[in-house]
Amino acid sequence: MSDEKIRVLILGGGFGGLYAALQFEKRRDSRFDVTVVNRENFFLFTPMLHEIAASDLDLTNIVNPVRKMLRHVSFFCGDVDKIDVEGKRVTVSHGFDRHSHELEYDHLVLGLGSVTNFFNLPGVAERALTMKSLGDAIQLRNRLIAHLEEADTECARAERPPLLTFVVAGGGFAGVETIASINDFLRDALPFYPNLKEEMLRLVLVHPGEFILPELGEKLGRYADKKLRERGVEIHPKCKVTAMQPNEVELTTGERITSATLVWTAGVSPNPIVALVPCLKERGRIKVNRYLQVEGLDGLWALGDCALVPDPATGGYCPPTAQHASREGKILAHNIIASIDGKAKKPFNFKTLGLLAAIGRRTGVARILGVNFSGFLAWFLWRGIYWSKLPRTEKKLRVAIDWALDVFFSKDFVQYLDQRALAHSQTETGAAPWNREQLSHPEKVDKRIAA
Ligand SMILES: Cc1cc2nc3c(=O)[nH]c(=O)nc-3n(C[C@H](O)[C@H](O)[C@H](O)COP(=O)(O)OP(=O)(O)OC[C@H]3O[C@@H](n4cnc5c(N)ncnc54)[C@H](O)[C@@H]3O)c2cc1C
Repeated sequence: MSDEKIRVLILGGGFGGLYAALQFEKRRDSRFDVTVVNRENFFLFTPMLHEIAASDLDLTNIVNPVRKMLRHVSFFCGDVDKIDVEGKRVTVSHGFDRHSHELEYDHLVLGLGSVTNFFNLPGVAERALTMKSLGDAIQLRNRLIAHLEEADTECARAERPPLLTFVVAGGGFAGVETIASINDFLRDALPFYPNLKEEMLRLVLVHPGEFILPELGEKLGRYADKKLRERGVEIHPKCKVTAMQPNEVELTTGERITSATLVWTAGVSPNPIVALVPCLKERGRIKVNRYLQVEGLDGLWALGDCALVPDPATGGYCPPTAQHASREGKILAHNIIASIDGKAKKPFNFKTLGLLAAIGRRTGVARILGVNFSGFLAWFLWRGIYWSKLPRTEKKLRVAIDWALDVFFSKDFVQYLDQRALAHSQTETGAAPWNREQLSHPEKVDKRIAA
């Protein structure tokens, strides 16, 4: 064998890509030169994302810097722009000027996940918030707090209905956990806003199916429905959002809900970058064999939400979940090494262990190994199981401390602002730069000072 290392390029540092990289990290096989490319410099633990939006956890406690997790695997923080499977190279861009680099590979792993799909509904892409990234959760948290602050003022009295109505589209895990947690957050924060009353708050969950959380079955779905309604959440089953206008969400029933906030969790599609790969796909997801290999393309592998992985138990495909993606990562790394060593590859063979959802106020619903749980026990299982899966002891400790403090203190509603602190340089005119117009258009202040 030549001295040249085998270059493995992993696109995506999510549950699929990162767990594949962790296998190379563990093995420290000097024959491989492994690089992970990811847009963010951290790994996001999505199952706890709603806890960030609802201020149960501190903003960075569910993310881990990739560089702390991978000490023997290289990391490139940037955007994947192009994939050339013929030339075996990938174009990535990064930096403030977004300049490009070409990374060559012998084995390419596609783990780019999925993106939100707004189905071209009028106004939705422009106006709705999403719940996929850490930024999304922080933005939603900030939006809730900003609306409480604004609605509490006397001058915003007339705008209270759109400010205090929050619509979530999608009754799957992400939608239900989001509405449950923001409902608790808003109701817990209300006593601190003297002009606001519980009856002014309106939280609406819009779901196309007959009952929410369909993956957990009717019994648990109806239980979650009942619990949420008892806590003041309105649920609109058999209904979809059709459009969003400023301060108005339109539904298939013809109803128009006066609201300035729509959280869209009602659709995903595979990352559009994978469309650049000339291979077999179904609804945009890359078809792989049981070894996670893309057939017909040498050295190409795919996993996670952007791949269609055969499920021998059902004859269909594996669901797009973190528990599948992380296990696919392990098998995929093993199979790359086995293909180099000329050894037998392992087929991906994993049966969903369980599904769990937190539905607020220390209650949950879960189905684990075919057994249903609900109420406090299910919530406790949710916390215990996901906490055990959260990578790195440091973050586990931080989350445990946050949860413990939560028992004694009410939720924190400090707004995280990304504005620069007000500054003052003496200008020629001597004008003070803090009039109202300049505060809302800081770029104008910068230009005047520069001039
Ligand atoms: C709110 C929410 C809650 C969830 N809860 C659960 C749960 O409780 N249990 C469960 O099993 N599953 C859950 N899931 C699903 C789970 O997160 C996904 O199935 C899983 O993350 C898929 O892993 P992946 O590696 O395919 O994609 P991801 O984990 O999404 O990783 C893809 C990575 O690729 C990066 N990327 C994308 N495009 C580019 C590009 N062009 N350039 C560079 N980098 C790029 C992204 O930044 C990301 O880091 C949840 C998902 C969400 C959104």
